[in-house]
Amino acid sequence: TYVIGSPCIDVKDRACVEECPVDCIYEGQRSLYIHPDECVDCGACEPVCPVEAIFYEDDLPPDLEPYLQDNADFFEET
Ligand code: SF4
Repeated sequence: TYVIGSPCIDVKDRACVEECPVDCIYEGQRSLYIHPDECVDCGACEPVCPVEAIFYEDDLPPDLEPYLQDNADFFEET
């Protein structure tokens, strides 16, 4: 899955939402989140993010690694 990290917080540009072919990017209060079970790993969202908040799970910078769980947790709660 692809993962949205902290650069998205309070930005929520939504350019990624327009690109996603399976509509698996959802809006939370302060950030957008990618549904880990719905993402088809196409990569279309990653280059359009103006704040470079999106990474493939294995390519997350160390400081953004917690966001893999954070994205998953968002969908557990809702
Ligand atoms: Fe959607 Fe593709 Fe991005 Fe996954 S990688 S969130 S399917 S645009």
